[in-house]
Amino acid sequence: MKLPEQLEAKFQTLLARYPIKRSALIPMLLFGQDVFGFVSDGLIEEIATRLDLNTLQVTETMEYYSMLRRKPAGKYHVQVCTNVSCMLRGGNKILEHVERKLEIGHKEVTKDGIFSLEEVECIGACTGAPAMQVNYDFYENLTPETLDQIIDGLDHGQKPTPVARTSGSVHPRHAAEVPVISRRFGIPNSHKIDVYLKNEGYQGLEKALKQMTAEQIIDEAKKSGLRGRGGAGFPAGMKWSFVPKDIAKPKYVIANADESEPGTCKDRPLLEMDPHQLIEGMVIAGKAVDSHQGYIYVRGEYRDVLDILEAAIAEAYAHGYLGKNILGSGFDFDLCAHTGAGAYECGEESALMESLEGKRGYPRIRPPFPAVVGLYGCPTVINNAETLSSVPSVILHGAEWYAGLGSPKNGGTRLFAISGHVNRPGIYELPMGFNLKRMIEDVAGGVLGGKKLKAVIPGGSSCPVLTADEIDIAMDFDSVAKAGSMLGSGGTVAIDEDTCMVDLARRIMHFYAHESCGWCIPCREGTSWLKKMLDRFHEGMGRPEDIDMVDQLAKNMLGKTFCPLGDAAALPTISIVKKWRNEFELHLNGKCPFKPAEVLAAR
Ligand code: SF4
Repeated sequence: MKLPEQLEAKFQTLLARYPIKRSALIPMLLFGQDVFGFVSDGLIEEIATRLDLNTLQVTETMEYYSMLRRKPAGKYHVQVCTNVSCMLRGGNKILEHVERKLEIGHKEVTKDGIFSLEEVECIGACTGAPAMQVNYDFYENLTPETLDQIIDGLDHGQKPTPVARTSGSVHPRHAAEVPVISRRFGIPNSHKIDVYLKNEGYQGLEKALKQMTAEQIIDEAKKSGLRGRGGAGFPAGMKWSFVPKDIAKPKYVIANADESEPGTCKDRPLLEMDPHQLIEGMVIAGKAVDSHQGYIYVRGEYRDVLDILEAAIAEAYAHGYLGKNILGSGFDFDLCAHTGAGAYECGEESALMESLEGKRGYPRIRPPFPAVVGLYGCPTVINNAETLSSVPSVILHGAEWYAGLGSPKNGGTRLFAISGHVNRPGIYELPMGFNLKRMIEDVAGGVLGGKKLKAVIPGGSSCPVLTADEIDIAMDFDSVAKAGSMLGSGGTVAIDEDTCMVDLARRIMHFYAHESCGWCIPCREGTSWLKKMLDRFHEGMGRPEDIDMVDQLAKNMLGKTFCPLGDAAALPTISIVKKWRNEFELHLNGKCPFKPAEVLAAR
């Protein structure tokens, strides 16, 4: 199969990039799809030949990834998000509007082949909800009117301006913010190396390479109280210390930029506006664990991030911050960015490594843990992109300074993405331990339309939901756990008094049922049954005994699955049944008390 020149060049780069050829599989499929509109039999055969795989291996792997398709999409593939943050801000109405306008439904193509439509799970634009992507371009804060303008513009060959860097997610600073990792946001061309260098860029790396030993870097990270920003909150320095020292195998550093949990969109602006900060953090982590190769795993929907990262990596090589003998220190480190192709499960660290090896993103049984047996069977440090982006500041300004910004055992700041029913949704960098109530009422401007707050999801859709009376708490890992929930990814979603909590539970469960990889029965069957039961309940067809059955089904999933997705699906459900049982009971009257009957009938 003769490939267009640019695609051939991309394939050649990918084939030379990885120690195991198969690692190139997912990017090759996605880049091929970008050119041909879908993954054809011919493309599968071509890729299989180049990777020494058979076509069945390629086909069974690609079927796992929701962005890869076997049928052509339209020239403009419209992907409307209806997940939690978008749902709260009218995402379903936007979807209905597009369906009417284009006269097509989910996964259909218009007769002229110009448009196709897909209802998608969270696209990482929660603070700009309701949002959609057209191909890889983001459009946020949609209304029926702006949507008409976008569709009409595309129909007439005029591409409307998508949400660009420094707009959309970013907003005027709030006085309570403490800009550390976001301090370069808003500076023109902040993603470029010359701007980075003028603003403390690569100074932490210089200090780490020239003045510190690996042990001192690890000690500094431990003392700083820097904990994993992906959700688990594990201390970063401790994680690095688990990597064996005297081992002949290569070691790897991976940045997890696969943020896909509904409510979470903090990594996207971080990487769009300050990619060099992440690169610097990864080289420092490499020095700490004696690794010479890093990978940044970016979710497939973030094509703009991938392009920006690749340009930044090229700049870092050209300036001697990557490659051989960095800054004359004798330390070598290579780095590349790698794209996923749509699978929430790949945010789990062992599933991410499987995906990076070109396989389905099934989690691995642990132990052994990645620090000992990780990527390609070698010791691997895998940290969230925000965690690694915090490392240069820790090293440059010192552990004591960083720890002092946060609360006890929770050093520094973090990016909180506040979405849902607030007046000023946005991504705010606040000290660890900042009060949640103040976050909603003051930083994010209070509840939209002057309504009462009903509930808050503190850290992404996998967290137990808090009532409005439970949010006078410090937002750090330990305090939120003490309050019965989790800090998670810091994706904070405010929910107003008019929201149906059964509908919320239903939408959350749809997401987890969609994303379950199906490996373990409690998760595969549990999410699927809960989805059906919650749908039925919300449609007014629930039975009194179903309330306890939903609760029991969810509880039966807890702790019984290979990866945390089972718990992630169960925990919010259990909390909603416990705290808003009255709303389930109100649905026993045959209709949703929060929605007019005709809306339900139309579903
Ligand atoms: Fe797959 Fe769910 Fe089991 Fe995780 S918990 S391994 S997503 S089936």
